[in-house]
Amino acid sequence: MYDLIIVGAGPAGLAAALYAGRYRLNTLILEKMAAGGQIVLSPSIENFPGFPGGISTEELTARFHKQVEDSGVKIEIAEVSAVSSHIEGGSPVFDIKTEGRPYQARGVVVAVGARAKPLGIAGETKFIGRGISYCATCDAPLFRNKDVAVIGGGDRAIEEAIFLTGYARTVYLVHRRQELRASQILVEKAKSIAKINFLLDSAVEEIQGQDKVERILVKNIKTNAAKQVSCQGVFIFVGITPNTDFLKGFLEMDEGGFIVTDQQMKASTQGVFACGDCRQKALYQVITACADGAVAAHSFHKYLVRT
Ligand code: NAP
Repeated sequence: MYDLIIVGAGPAGLAAALYAGRYRLNTLILEKMAAGGQIVLSPSIENFPGFPGGISTEELTARFHKQVEDSGVKIEIAEVSAVSSHIEGGSPVFDIKTEGRPYQARGVVVAVGARAKPLGIAGETKFIGRGISYCATCDAPLFRNKDVAVIGGGDRAIEEAIFLTGYARTVYLVHRRQELRASQILVEKAKSIAKINFLLDSAVEEIQGQDKVERILVKNIKTNAAKQVSCQGVFIFVGITPNTDFLKGFLEMDEGGFIVTDQQMKASTQGVFACGDCRQKALYQVITACADGAVAAHSFHKYLVRT
């Protein structure tokens, strides 16, 4: 029986573990793949305080991981498929189901993060792995001296478009509005790079090709003018979907599947806390994920002392 099981080893889960370890709680992290979470899909992070000029996400993850290990918390690789609870001695005990052995804990911190949302247009599913990608860091080297399109106008799309200019010949940035949602500093950087060609007020209607991506059909939303843009790669960054399907019915979520918490990270079930990109909130950043994780561990500690 653990005091606390943290599900997910991204920045939120690792920060929760660091604090739980320092409270000397008997804590375990369950992670389905490897520590790091979504940030490992980006090459570097420029807005985490304390690292002027930025830090590679690989190095930041390694530092988080080391600090967690030093606080005495272990990570086990296991995918959690269900969480339920029963009462023992008047307090809830959580049963955590994985493909391997089951686990039990007096509390759960859900830090399962989110994944890229698909765009849902014709050709998208057909060409996954054959020109369509949701991760520039993983796939950019495949597009050396080729033309690629990036879809989206948020931080992720602009960051990844900039990264792709290190490989591709031309990067078409296709966004459905004139204004970009991304932070101004990223937009300014992207606009200063000649290789990035902005197609604004534009929607991609279809991705076409024989065996691989060869072109996209782009329609200008204001004029209805349609054109074909020749490209060999399409990178889709149109937002995130939380990895919370396995908790449906157990915790309250919003219509997008983001877990509803209070400011103490308490979820709707007593003894369960949620932090990071899987919860409903205003700002999805590494720094806010870490802050959420710290608050979740603090709230669980308070809860445990009281129950
Ligand atoms: P995001 O901020 O939600 O942006 C999604 C973009 O996709 C928006 O520009 C949106 O257009 C567009 N979009 C959504 N649905 C679309 C559709 N059906 N067709 C065409 N375009 C569509 O998502 P994100 O960029 O993936 O980032 C996720 C979160 O992580 C954000 O909160 C972001 O700030 C954060 N993040 C931060 C950093 C950083 O600070 N370094 C890096 C990466 C991510 P509209 O603008 O018109 O809605």
